[in-house]
Amino acid sequence: MPEGVTLVVVTKTKPITAIMEAYNAGHRIFGENKIQEMTEKMEKLPKDVQWHMIGHVQRNKVKYMAAYVTLIHGVDTLKLLQEIDRQAKNYQRKINCLLQVHIAEEETKFGMDHRELFELVASGKLDKLTNTNVIGLMGMATYTENKEQIRREFKHLKQLFDTMKTRIPGISVLSMGMSADYSIAIEEGSTMVRIGSAIFGARN
Ligand SMILES: *Cc1c(COP(=O)(O)O)cnc(C)c1O
Repeated sequence: MPEGVTLVVVTKTKPITAIMEAYNAGHRIFGENKIQEMTEKMEKLPKDVQWHMIGHVQRNKVKYMAAYVTLIHGVDTLKLLQEIDRQAKNYQRKINCLLQVHIAEEETKFGMDHRELFELVASGKLDKLTNTNVIGLMGMATYTENKEQIRREFKHLKQLFDTMKTRIPGISVLSMGMSADYSIAIEEGSTMVRIGSAIFGARN
């Protein structure tokens, strides 16, 4: 990875043996998209692994990862953020979060739109949270062969990131890019890429 870009090794669906190979090769930041699977793996793997939740999070499941999760990428509502804050308090810790922004033309991807993001930031409600830190933004480009479209979507997210940096203190992480599009994402200013299949091979 280029300097300034953090690699999240996406281990979802992969067995412990495969993940241990990545661990033994020196990787420590692993991403999962289901809380139950992440917790089962956390219990079996060495304690210095940093677990990132990269998938959509249901509020009623936050409690199952609040004790150990390092970064939650997919926060797309204030209610979810407030629940993370509440659970973090229970465990007397602070949990780092990214706000997920919808940048794809596809309808299927989660995330706040532009307007929701600006409204949330302007509302002052982020300042009332004591046990969560919003440290950046996350987004997923459309699943397409059209590289110009992907680049356009990433550029858009980078612009939002630069604007958010001027409004929220402590914003430093821009999580964008997966196996198929991480090189474009890095060219467009990503600071964190989430890569699974390019490391482990295709998932079943
Ligand atoms: C699965 C997943 C990835 C990794 O996808 P690959 O194409 O295997 O690199 C990245 N981000 C999210 C949110 C994912 O769910």
